[in-house]
Amino acid sequence: MSDLQTAPSNAVSPSSPRGEPDVAIVGAGAAGIAAARRLVELGSSVLILEALPRLGGRAHTVELHGLPVDLGCGWLHSAERNPLAALAEGQGRLLDRSEGAWRRQLHDIDFPPREQRDAWAAYMRLGERLRRDPPASDRASDAVAADDPWRPFLDGLSSFVNGVELDQLSVRDFLAYDDAASEANWRLPGGYGAFIADLAAGLPVALSTRVTSIAEAPGGVVLETDRGAVRARAAIVTVSSDVLARGDIRLAPALDDHLHAAAALPLGLDNKILLAMSEPDAVPAESHLLGRLDRAGTGSYYLRPFGRPLVEVFLGGALARDLEAAGDAAAVDFALRELGELLGSEFPASLTPLVVTRWGAERTISGSYSHARPGRADARAVLARPPRPWLCFAGEACSAQDYSTAHGAWRSGLDAADWIAAGLHGKGRAT
Ligand SMILES: Cc1cc2nc3c(=O)[nH]c(=O)nc-3n(C[C@H](O)[C@H](O)[C@H](O)COP(=O)(O)OP(=O)(O)OC[C@H]3O[C@@H](n4cnc5c(N)ncnc54)[C@H](O)[C@@H]3O)c2cc1C
Repeated sequence: MSDLQTAPSNAVSPSSPRGEPDVAIVGAGAAGIAAARRLVELGSSVLILEALPRLGGRAHTVELHGLPVDLGCGWLHSAERNPLAALAEGQGRLLDRSEGAWRRQLHDIDFPPREQRDAWAAYMRLGERLRRDPPASDRASDAVAADDPWRPFLDGLSSFVNGVELDQLSVRDFLAYDDAASEANWRLPGGYGAFIADLAAGLPVALSTRVTSIAEAPGGVVLETDRGAVRARAAIVTVSSDVLARGDIRLAPALDDHLHAAAALPLGLDNKILLAMSEPDAVPAESHLLGRLDRAGTGSYYLRPFGRPLVEVFLGGALARDLEAAGDAAAVDFALRELGELLGSEFPASLTPLVVTRWGAERTISGSYSHARPGRADARAVLARPPRPWLCFAGEACSAQDYSTAHGAWRSGLDAADWIAAGLHGKGRAT
């Protein structure tokens, strides 16, 4: 497996003799790259500090059998208003606008059409109930009976969409996303992660550089890293809410409100397994299977995305956590067993595991995307509010409506950059 994101030619050492940047940006994911681009556009100098030896964070494309494959984000959600879709289009990148196969069950296997209708009707009913008569607890699971026959299906869907089951989900937060989202989901066959990493071209980035503390200092901030200190006039911190809440970066002065807000926005977990097919003609291109209807802990199997000889397995929530803890072999066994039950016992023999992601174990990320705990939808606004003139936070968890996505992260990075730039250049801020 080779990594498409080779060290960029703009990689620098944090202590390279470039003088002090106006703004130090912690994290080279979508939010950090967006913030850096905007600041440079506005005339500020920047330095991005990234703990991993690569760009992109949760946007990560790798090359498998010569094909670019996304291990993190893959879909440009709400595509017609997604700023990254517009950017990709502007660059002349190939965009796939075809409808995803998620809602279809190949040959109705183990999921007869009538049950499919009933299952999706149950999903619609849940949405109506959440809007019309939301539970006082703000806990999504309180809107569906524990013994509802479709409860496992609904929990399973939630584990894919939110990274957690309904009992951990704030209704208000979920609706803020859902009400703003459209049905248009596009893809970049060249890789969403590769595209986002390419957007960092020309920006100074110090890879493999972990920030351990950020402190106010005369005229700005000092960031301690494991490769030396960096001084800047201001900083934007784009690390995930879990990394922030864990206190991996010491902040002086302490910012308890922001850290508590981050703790109310934990990351759920979704992992992917990529399987190579030796007999791709066994299933149609762009088809899909849901593993089981009778339990939440099941896989979603995207067969031959873009017609490629691959199966993309998606595992979410408690199942993803259990299998990540059990190890890659257990995760692969689980997926092959479910595929064997669906497509016949010979089918798994034609599959070779290529990659198993472990987003929860990635220490500088620690999960897939954020959800708000019940009763804590307000936390996103708290986290997004700049705590100091010289510091603010960005990243998907800061987005009120597009949290959990790459474009939400991107927009939050632009907002943070505008805030910081207004302070640096002495202009009034539009809060
Ligand atoms: C399996 C999976 C599937 C997904 N599917 C989609 C999808 O289809 N569509 C979509 O829009 N979104 C999807 N997402 C979510 C999307 O990828 C994220 O919301 C988005 O990329 C987050 O960007 P970010 O900049 O907020 O954070 P990150 O990408 O996490 O960037 C933060 C960066 O900070 C770095 N960092 C952390 N600590 C430090 C430190 N101390 N010092 C320096 N650097 C540090 C991290 O290494 C990381 O690179 C998916 C995510 C996963 C995991």
